[in-house]
Amino acid sequence: MFREHEIEVLITGAGPVGLFTALALAENGIQVEIIDAEWRAAAQSYACALHPRTLELLDRRGLGSEVFKIGRRIDTVGFYDGHTRHAELRFADLNAAFPFLLVLPQCAFERLLEDHLSKYDRVRVEWNHRLSNLEFVDGRVVATLDKLAETAKGYIVPTFEWAVEKSLRANASYVLGTDGHDSLVRRLMGIDYEYAGESATFAVFECECSGEVPNEARIVLHGTTVNGFWPLLGNRCRWSFQISPPRLGDDSHEKERTAFVIERDGLDDDVRQALQTFLRERAPWFENEILEIDWSVDVQFENRVAKRFGSDRCWLAGDSAHQTSPLGMQSMNVGLFEGDAIAGLLKKILREDAPIDVLEAFGEERLRDWQRLLGITANLEATEGASAWCAANRAKILSCVPASGIHLEALLRQLGLSIRPSFSKPAALPV
Ligand SMILES: Cc1cc2nc3c(=O)[nH]c(=O)nc-3n(C[C@H](O)[C@H](O)[C@H](O)COP(=O)(O)OP(=O)(O)OC[C@H]3O[C@@H](n4cnc5c(N)ncnc54)[C@H](O)[C@@H]3O)c2cc1C
Repeated sequence: MFREHEIEVLITGAGPVGLFTALALAENGIQVEIIDAEWRAAAQSYACALHPRTLELLDRRGLGSEVFKIGRRIDTVGFYDGHTRHAELRFADLNAAFPFLLVLPQCAFERLLEDHLSKYDRVRVEWNHRLSNLEFVDGRVVATLDKLAETAKGYIVPTFEWAVEKSLRANASYVLGTDGHDSLVRRLMGIDYEYAGESATFAVFECECSGEVPNEARIVLHGTTVNGFWPLLGNRCRWSFQISPPRLGDDSHEKERTAFVIERDGLDDDVRQALQTFLRERAPWFENEILEIDWSVDVQFENRVAKRFGSDRCWLAGDSAHQTSPLGMQSMNVGLFEGDAIAGLLKKILREDAPIDVLEAFGEERLRDWQRLLGITANLEATEGASAWCAANRAKILSCVPASGIHLEALLRQLGLSIRPSFSKPAALPV
């Protein structure tokens, strides 16, 4: 694949943001190649909801009918504290083409994007290809890629591990780092993060329940913790409980690639008990019986944004550039817009002679928007219409609202809350 040929755009990382960006570039007639260090797409639901604006974006890219066919429509988000329902977001009141949320497990979304990508000749994900270095030579980016292959070790009982089969060099006009939370592209460019407050660890459970689960997302405050319920497809649901201090043991931010069921000897009892205790203490209104726990993990999320989104010929989008609470599904949803915007700008640069500086403006705008979303340059203020509960808990609410841009502002207004700049830095137009 990479023998001695020039690539217009190399995308590193085939998560949802990389796949969608590849699709947008291919549609824009740009020659794109996409690699991923892993052997296949994610196998779990992770960022499992698409925001209304994301639905518009996907529809523009011809994916609307397919996501609507397989997703689950949700019209409200309820806010709870103990037994009490304190507030509600009504998506139907949004001025939007698709005024609702669509639950779609990330694994299904990634599969759909990869399928669509395969419709373009010569664009397919090169799994098992890991970026290991970038050099900037004569206005090009030379990427070193390690092709990984499974090797068996051990005698009698072999164990399998991935090893570098060979290293390749790819010569790209542009490189996009959509390589997730531990982005090598970001590190190779020497870009640090700006942090906004403490990280938070969540115990995540995906379960099958008896009977129908509530058909809305719920944000559940309990003491100092913020927790989230999302119905999935059928009678499955996702619970994310903030744990403070983090429990010892598994704390993995790696995406699972094997679909597995956690209920196995011994392990299942502990996990089931932990879930029952969380439910009893934090969500006493949840009446469904847990039939099976498909998957559970503790995972830490930072509140941070890269100090730059890139420079010159190398740019970041998605989790490689930012992370926030998982409850509002903001990082992936906004990341898709970033990928789409970069794809549009690269078309202008590569096909319409636009100056490369347009990417700098993109980076500055993205940084300002995230600084605002993370509350670095903005505060959430309570207006007269806010209930005492919303006013008191407003600091916890911003990252839990599954929306961005003008929809985020409109939904916050339903709670009597408003985002205001906290100091003189100019507030960005929201994405
Ligand atoms: C356990 C868990 C639970 C989560 N729960 C939620 C949730 O409830 N809500 C929510 O909003 N988000 C959640 N997330 C986060 C969500 O999955 C991310 O926001 C989303 O995946 C970001 O998409 P992305 O395309 O930017 O990056 P990713 O999906 O992380 O994709 C990056 C890709 O880059 C590849 N890669 C990395 N390094 C290299 C390299 N050197 N060379 C080549 N490829 C490379 C990786 O293999 C990966 O496939 C969760 C994540 C985890 C792990």
